[in-house]
Amino acid sequence: MSDTKVAIVTGGSRGIGRVAAIKLAKKGFNVAICYAGNEEKANETIGIIEELGVKAKAYKCDVSNSAQVESTVKEISEDFDSIDVLVNNAGITRDGLLIRMSEDDFDAVIATNLKGTFNFTKAVASIMMKQRSGKIINLSSVVGISGNAGQANYAASKAGVIGLTKSCARELASRGITVNAIAPGYVETDMTAVLKDSIKESLLNTIPLKKYGRPEDIADAIAFLASPSASYITGQVINVDGGMCM
Ligand code: NAP
Repeated sequence: MSDTKVAIVTGGSRGIGRVAAIKLAKKGFNVAICYAGNEEKANETIGIIEELGVKAKAYKCDVSNSAQVESTVKEISEDFDSIDVLVNNAGITRDGLLIRMSEDDFDAVIATNLKGTFNFTKAVASIMMKQRSGKIINLSSVVGISGNAGQANYAASKAGVIGLTKSCARELASRGITVNAIAPGYVETDMTAVLKDSIKESLLNTIPLKKYGRPEDIADAIAFLASPSASYITGQVINVDGGMCM
């Protein structure tokens, strides 16, 4: 049994999840990443992490499917010695105004962002409870706090993640497990690349620091919450948003 700690990052193939997985590897974690379907990007992430000299493996797993999540967590716990950190990062958007939003678009976003976070937390919690230690880090969003026109489904899912975070923090504290959320503002990834330039410009005006966030900014906060320095922090939502929401 090695002393190296193990982190799972869902949605680790691209964007914030990839940069967070690499950052955790640089901090010495062995890393398991999950992805929805982009095997090429997932393998790219694994290649970068392996070059850092730690163990890494990618698992194709739809976070919204509880059976897939259960079997993936079982596989990860067989492949690695422990599960010390879970980063619930997988997420999607299906933007649209309320009156035009389809039931499918509402359900898909809640299923991935909120139920996916529940599924992984539940599957990992029993392992962490036996270990009597663990750190769970959930990706919320500033829009889960402030709401956003055109994102009723996404904002509801991210507000739900905050309620889930605080409830799990209360339930799991006595077992030495911390549960926190990060609420990023606007971060430059594939998720935001689809926005029109006019929307991106108007968003910039709402950011006091007058610049977009980088995946590294979010990964730094994730690495902090995963570190022993954050051991006395639980049930919190940390905004990493250039001052968008205060
Ligand atoms: P992204 O670049 O679009 O990447 C999304 C990641 O999630 C990919 O790795 C994707 O896997 C994975 N994924 C999507 N659906 C999944 C599913 N059902 N099962 C498993 N994996 C799934 O997103 P991002 O911008 O890095 O965002 C990461 C997180 O931060 C999300 O929760 C997002 O809501 C949150 N966030 C982002 C921003 C922002 O401005 N970018 C702001 C606030 C919060 P594949 O590669 O296989 O598709």
